[in-house]
Amino acid sequence: SKDPRPFKRAILKLSGEALREPGSTDNISPEIVQRIASEIKEAIDTGLQLGIVVGGGNFWRGASASARGMDRATADYVGMLATVMNALAIEGALSHIGVKCTVMSAIEMKNVAEPFIRRKAEHQLDKGTVIIFAAGTGSPFFSTDTTAALRASEMGADVILKATQVDGVYCSDPRKNPDAKRFDTVTFQHCLENRLNVMDATAFSLCMDNDIPIVIFDLGPNGNLSHALRSQPIGTLVHG
Ligand code: UDP
Repeated sequence: SKDPRPFKRAILKLSGEALREPGSTDNISPEIVQRIASEIKEAIDTGLQLGIVVGGGNFWRGASASARGMDRATADYVGMLATVMNALAIEGALSHIGVKCTVMSAIEMKNVAEPFIRRKAEHQLDKGTVIIFAAGTGSPFFSTDTTAALRASEMGADVILKATQVDGVYCSDPRKNPDAKRFDTVTFQHCLENRLNVMDATAFSLCMDNDIPIVIFDLGPNGNLSHALRSQPIGTLVHG
């Protein structure tokens, strides 16, 4: 597939850690959430249809708790509930600045979120409402990267925008090899053959099978998110 830009419908994947101020003990930084919300608003105002999948790693990771003796499925449910807290924070900040949005949860929690119903979600996206997909897939043993791949596939999104702490995909680990080059674009096949980690294997194969391109970019610098959301070249585009 070719470059999806400019795209009309996107899924933004935000890790839980993206909401934390580096070095702070607060799991969620209201200031960071506000900054993210205002960059999202700029893009929505240009007509972008947006779904957001948020992780929960700022509170909890199922695999880590499980490595320390907790039952994995239980630990994963705790992790999914953590994503709901992040989703509510993002919803609050978006609503506050006048962006129409709703949280849809894969685990029913009807006092604070709508249940995820695919048909309703599509309808909301069509109307320009931002949907924040909470509680991951609703099943343990998956990740929120996989959730992003799944929601992008079923919502017919043009792209996944994965906000991370690195500015793209490199030909080798830039921490080990100072000469490592960053790709502007790279194919799924090349990533597979060279074991370049873009997402976990389940998420990666869903994207590859369903031909959903992924943009990997650094959320850190101000303006990066708004560039990514506005289809401007940034980070690395991974494509079919
Ligand atoms: N999780 C899960 N099923 C899902 C999505 C998430 O069980 O479909 C759990 C899992 O324990 C994971 C936690 O929720 O560790 C938080 O999600 P993730 O680690 O993907 O968050 P991120 O690293 O993006 O902040």
